[in-house]
Amino acid sequence: MNEEEWLQCQHAAPMLSYLRKKVVASDRKLRLFACACLRRISHLIPEEGGLVPLEVAERFADGQATMTERIQMETLANRCLHTEPSDDPQRLSRAYILLSIRGPLLKRAPQAAESTSVNARIAVAFIATEAIHGISYAPPDTQEWLKEEVCHQAQLLRDVFFKPLQRQIPRLESSWRHYNDRISVRLAESIYDERAFDRLPILADALEDAGCDNPDILAHCRKGGQHVRGCWVVDLLLGKK
Ligand SMILES: [Zn+2]
Repeated sequence: MNEEEWLQCQHAAPMLSYLRKKVVASDRKLRLFACACLRRISHLIPEEGGLVPLEVAERFADGQATMTERIQMETLANRCLHTEPSDDPQRLSRAYILLSIRGPLLKRAPQAAESTSVNARIAVAFIATEAIHGISYAPPDTQEWLKEEVCHQAQLLRDVFFKPLQRQIPRLESSWRHYNDRISVRLAESIYDERAFDRLPILADALEDAGCDNPDILAHCRKGGQHVRGCWVVDLLLGKK
């Protein structure tokens, strides 16, 4: 895959395969990508507990879920997988969410036979992209819906990973970070915590006021579309990888 193909790709699977081969993806980012995919379809999963498993999975990605929460979610996941009818797509979808918090699970992942931690991490993300096929949701044109959804997932990957073919992500100058009582960093923190990604154009203005002239950073903040936790610009400001 070359850079142009990465930028134009309309399906997450070959992009994840590329990341898998190149090992340029952190555990945290892959898990957040998985969560973002699942969050997009969470309204289609009518289960008790609502978004709690997904929120735990996101906090797990950031190293903030407690051991008790993780154990509770894993117990729930095991129950879904082993006691519910395996052909019930709603149950399966829920199990996918729960499984996204786990590392070495992967019985259902395409890379099940492989056991390295890198493959395990990528497989978590694959699970999310596979989950859309297990939903008992039948829009008028399911094939069209699936096609659109995998296209959205590809866009999510481009939000989380800055052109992985370029080993260097843009540099953030220290002066941009510290300008005006660290306003850019504080903005990034609130955007991340509140999922207020509609404020990214404001962040671009703040960075520009601080002297930022990096076209990739500014364009990303102003491009619109969906941004999620793991967005490479917000991560850059917060020092997250
Ligand atoms: Zn973004």
